Amino acid sequence: MRTPAGKECQYYYADFHRGRDVQTCRLIERNRESPPWTPGLCHTCPVPDILMANACPHLVLDAQVGKRLFGLVQRVEVTGWCSEYFLDVEHPAVGCGHCHEHRGGPSILDIAQQDPNE
Ligand code: SF4
Repeated sequence: MRTPAGKECQYYYADFHRGRDVQTCRLIERNRESPPWTPGLCHTCPVPDILMANACPHLVLDAQVGKRLFGLVQRVEVTGWCSEYFLDVEHPAVGCGHCHEHRGGPSILDIAQQDPNE
């Protein structure tokens, strides 16, 4: 579904039919410790770009609304986890890099760490 920011996001849900006025982020909604979600958060949320960059079925995302510091704008904080290797994914848009090992080639992390002068 397209977010108020105009990007496709599988976690956004809206229903305006027949007088209803429902909007929610199902990713943040399931994090009970997060401050409440507001539609404006979609404008700076990294999740749609992460999902575009990494379609790994083992990537599990968690998100929460960040704390407001010094009156600045709140942002969505995202963490990733690999359900195949049971490890934190430091860069969810890139992935953990292990799935590429099954295919026999270098992982995206190997490529990123290669010395360009080699
Ligand atoms: S806040 Fe992020 S994850 Fe939630 S609906 Fe908006 S774009 Fe999607």
